[in-house]
Amino acid sequence: MIERYFDNAATTPVDPRVVEEMLPYFSEAFGNANSIHEPGQRARAAVELARERVAELLGEEDSGWITFTSGATEANNWVLALGTPLVVSPFEHSSVWVTNANFKGEVLENQGYMLQGPRAKASCAAVMHVNNETGAIIDLPPELKVDDSDGGMAFSLLRDLTQSVGKVDLPRMERSYFASLSAHKFYGPKGVGALYSKMCVPATWMHGGEQEDGRRAGTLNVPGIVGMGVAAAIASQEADKNKRFAENLRALVLAELTKISDHKLNSPQNSSPYIVSLSFLGVEGETLAVELDRAGYSISSGAACSSRSTEPSHVLTALGLPIEWLRGTIRISFGKYNTEASAANLANELRKAVEKLRTMK
Ligand code: PMP
Repeated sequence: MIERYFDNAATTPVDPRVVEEMLPYFSEAFGNANSIHEPGQRARAAVELARERVAELLGEEDSGWITFTSGATEANNWVLALGTPLVVSPFEHSSVWVTNANFKGEVLENQGYMLQGPRAKASCAAVMHVNNETGAIIDLPPELKVDDSDGGMAFSLLRDLTQSVGKVDLPRMERSYFASLSAHKFYGPKGVGALYSKMCVPATWMHGGEQEDGRRAGTLNVPGIVGMGVAAAIASQEADKNKRFAENLRALVLAELTKISDHKLNSPQNSSPYIVSLSFLGVEGETLAVELDRAGYSISSGAACSSRSTEPSHVLTALGLPIEWLRGTIRISFGKYNTEASAANLANELRKAVEKLRTMK
């Protein structure tokens, strides 16, 4: 049941208003957005409206800097393919991190969630905005706060906004600024996202056609893009209300958890209210997620993309979380279809599951 789904950082359900506006673009207005005939131009107009809606959600006037992609993973991979040397934060999503498993750049030092500046100048720095595992809002070190391509330590800056858009206030976009996002994190469809590149045109990423002004070839996913646009328009209007609701649910769950001994909140004060990371001593996060699933509640034992891996989270490792706490980590992520009652029940079920698993040891 949708109100018992607390894994909204992994993905959100598609808002029915989004589905409704997407539907005609499958079989009725099915034209190729690059065709010159009327069906093609109708599709093109819908894509351009979506582009404007996404720009508005980002608080930007010029939609021309938006290129639609298959999601934030592709947008991140694209920016990283543009140039080295690179500087990355230790908190990045695996689409930045794994791509660079063998990379020669620099990983920024951190103290808790505080990042230090880079040691050397780089052509590109990647520092995400809201961390997907803990919800932490990551501040840029002053050396990376550039408003001019010559003025700072990095030529361009990639900020992964995947967990931020439609949820929390966005950072100010400077020149040579890249941002990545995915529609399915704000009630749009999966497999569609965007790369925003302010005042710079990224080198062509996919070759083969003139789509997206020659920056990314391939026939456009018109229904998906339309869906992303509608989701963006809805998010622009409802973000504040949804955020207050998430704050409320978060407080409710955390209050209940004070009844559980030996637990730790990994999310800092300066966090998105949508994501809570918790560790419990003496239990396995995965087992806890399975117990909760049996009780009808969906949570995650980490980021969805890494929760099947047995490797400890690189994010929590960078934060210095000892292994006995790392093992017992879960992530709860709220969404607009949760209810106060379901959040209270979730916390209650969580308490029961922790107590049960601890007595089984
Ligand atoms: N960045 C962050 C911060 C994310 O949370 C995710 C999705 N978990 C991605 C990038 C990748 O998004 P997608 O899988 O939609 O490409």
